Amino acid sequence: MTPEAFRRHGHEIVDWIADYWQGIESRDVVPGVEPGELRRALPTRAPEAAEPFEAILEDVERLIVPGMAHWGHPGWFAYFPSNASPPSVLGEMLAAGLGAQCMSWVTSPAATELEQVVMAWLREALAIPEGFTGSIQDTASSATLVAFLTARDRLGPDAARMTAYWSREAHSSVAKAARLAGIPPERCRVVEVDQAWALRPDHLAALLAQDRAAGLVPGIIVASMGTTSSTACDPIRAVGELARGARAWYHVDAAYGGTAAILPEIRPLLDGLELADSYVTNPHKWLMTSFDCTAYFVRDVEALLSTCRTSPEYLRTAHDPEVVNYRDWGIPLGRRFRALKLWFVLRSYGLAGLRELFRGHLALAQELAGWVDGTQGWERLAPVPLGLVCFRHVPPTLAGDEQALARHNAGLLARVNASGRVFLTHTTLGERYTIRMSIGQFRTERRHVESAWELLREAATER
Ligand SMILES: *Cc1c(COP(=O)(O)O)cnc(C)c1O
Repeated sequence: MTPEAFRRHGHEIVDWIADYWQGIESRDVVPGVEPGELRRALPTRAPEAAEPFEAILEDVERLIVPGMAHWGHPGWFAYFPSNASPPSVLGEMLAAGLGAQCMSWVTSPAATELEQVVMAWLREALAIPEGFTGSIQDTASSATLVAFLTARDRLGPDAARMTAYWSREAHSSVAKAARLAGIPPERCRVVEVDQAWALRPDHLAALLAQDRAAGLVPGIIVASMGTTSSTACDPIRAVGELARGARAWYHVDAAYGGTAAILPEIRPLLDGLELADSYVTNPHKWLMTSFDCTAYFVRDVEALLSTCRTSPEYLRTAHDPEVVNYRDWGIPLGRRFRALKLWFVLRSYGLAGLRELFRGHLALAQELAGWVDGTQGWERLAPVPLGLVCFRHVPPTLAGDEQALARHNAGLLARVNASGRVFLTHTTLGERYTIRMSIGQFRTERRHVESAWELLREAATER
C-alpha cells in the first residue's frame, strides 16, 4: 500500500467509524446470524494475488458488519460495558501507527514512562492507597493469574501445601488462575456468601482455621468488589484482616467496579484496600477505554518481578538497572502501547467528566431498581451498589416453581433481545434464574433504560 493510498483509505475508515457511531442506534444490537454463516461466505484459502483495498472494505460492509454485536449501542445492557470511546479509539489508532512493541524501556522509552505516569494518575484518581504500583496488563484474568503465581512463589517449598480461597460468587477467572497455577481442587476453598451475595468472613475464618489445623498453608485469598453475577461487594477490610492473620496473599478483584471509585461516594465499598497485596480493575470496561486495558496494582513490586522476570542475554540493555522493563511485570514478553489510549481518555474527559458519566449511570441503575421494586409481579434479586440491576418476572401462577420461572424468564429475555433494540444477559443467583441489566454503555441515556423496561414489561405478558 502506498503512503497516498494509506492516507485515502485511512480517512475513509475514520469516516466510516464516525458514520457507524452516528447511526449505531438504528442497528439491531446483536445480529440475527446463524453459526457458520460467515465461514461459509468466505473462501477457504487466502488469496494468491493481491486484492484491491476497495474490495476488502466492501466485504467488511457486506459480510463482517452484519455479523457483529454492537457493544457501542445505547441498548447494550449485557454482561458489563466495554466502552470504546472516541478518544480511546484515536489513541488505539495512533499506537497502531507508531507500531512499537513496548517490552522494555529501550524499545520505547516514552511508552514505558507514560505507563508509569498514567498508572500513578489512575492510582490517585481511583483512591488506591499509597504504596501500590500499577502496570497495564491485557486482562483481569491475566492479572489474577499473576497474583496467584506470585502468591505461590512467595511460599517457596510450602507451596506444595498451599490453599486458596474465594467466594461462591467470584469470577470464573479466579478458579482458572488457581488451576493454571497448579493448585489442585482439593486445596481450593469456596467461601459461602450472605444474602447480598457477598463473601461471609465467618465462613472464611472457619475454613482458614480448619486448614491450618490440618497442616495446610493458606496462600491466597481473593475478595471481589463488584462480582460479575450481581456486583456484590465482599467486605474488603474484614477479609483483609483474616488474610493478614493467616499471612496469605490478599488479591482484590474489582475488574468491573473498581473504576467507579473515581466517585468518592463509591470508595466506602473499597474500605480496607490498604490490606491488599494486589488489586485489579479494568479501564476497558466502564472507564471509556477500549479493550484491552487492565490496571494491575501491587504493593510489593519485587515479588511480582521475581515471579515474572527473565533476563536472557538478547534482552539485556545497559539501562536495565535504572529503568522499568515492563516485560518483567506480567506473562507476555511483548507489550502493546496501551498507556496511550488511557492517557487520551483521562485527558479528553478529565476526571470531572468521567465522574459525571459514572454518576449518570449509577442514577439510572437506581431508577430502574425503583421501577422493578414498584411494579407488581417483578422481583429484584440483589442490591444495586453499582450499575447492574438483577431481577426477574414472577407471575402469580408460577410463584414458587423455580423451573417454570426459569423457563418463563428465559423466554421473556429471548423475546426482548429478539427486538434488536436491547441486549441483556442472564445469570443464576442461588437457584434463581436472574435477568441482568447492566447500565454503563456511554451512549445509554434515560430514554434507553425506559424503553428497555417497557420492552421487558410487554414481553412478560406475551407467551
Ligand atoms: C470482567 C471480569 C473479570 C474478567 O475480566 P477480563 O479482563 O476479561 O479477564 C474478572 N473479574 C470480574 C469481577 C469481572 O467483572
